[in-house]
Amino acid sequence: MSDDTYLFVSDLHLDARLPAAVAQFMSFLKGPASEAAGLYILGDLFEAWVGDDDPEPCRNQVCEALRDYTSSGKPCFVVRGNRDFLFGAGFEARTGCQLLPDPVRVTIGALQLFVSHGDVLCTDDHAYQELRSVVRQSAWQRHFMALPLDTRRALADAARSGSKAHTGRTQYSVMDVNTAAVLAAFRATGTRLMVHGHTHRPGVHSVDVDGQSATRIVLGDWYEQGSCLHVQANGHYELLTLPRG
Ligand code: MN
Repeated sequence: MSDDTYLFVSDLHLDARLPAAVAQFMSFLKGPASEAAGLYILGDLFEAWVGDDDPEPCRNQVCEALRDYTSSGKPCFVVRGNRDFLFGAGFEARTGCQLLPDPVRVTIGALQLFVSHGDVLCTDDHAYQELRSVVRQSAWQRHFMALPLDTRRALADAARSGSKAHTGRTQYSVMDVNTAAVLAAFRATGTRLMVHGHTHRPGVHSVDVDGQSATRIVLGDWYEQGSCLHVQANGHYELLTLPRG
């Protein structure tokens, strides 16, 4: 790997109930990520995040590994996902990671990338977008953070079950990105390369934007294996599957 390569991952959904994924991410940080110029985590690093004050051991272990990574001098940029949208200044302090807005334009060498967790592009899922607009309000988040940790954890568990029920009864196409939203994002930002996760449908898609060719790269989840995009400053990129040893 050349030293101007940045790595992109998303949807790791790390949780004590899936120790193999946690272990794989820890070795990923010490291995490929440490050889790269830096790391971008595009949301849903954790299965749930109920506040920066949560001392839960598994999540804490991951935070400490990220702290080791950033202490070694490597930058780690994080976009909030729909599972860890409560990342705040406390998370940055614990990990040394830098939170980015969503969506955000990222520059690597001569490349301009449109980067997002991806849920903002799934505009056909009206029920989800309505929920998203509520929980992203600062008033809602203040009320939630004022609750005791145990209550917040119980509510997050309930939200996960609700989300599973929703995805179970909602049509596959409704939960994918909306084509018009993708085109609008390319037009508004003038970028020709988009990277996102969220849909758990890894792939590289060619998109025609007003006669110009653009590319949309979707990162995969880490439930059964890893998924990682390498982006070099010279414009080369490669979407890789990381087998679980
Ligand atoms: Mn997601």
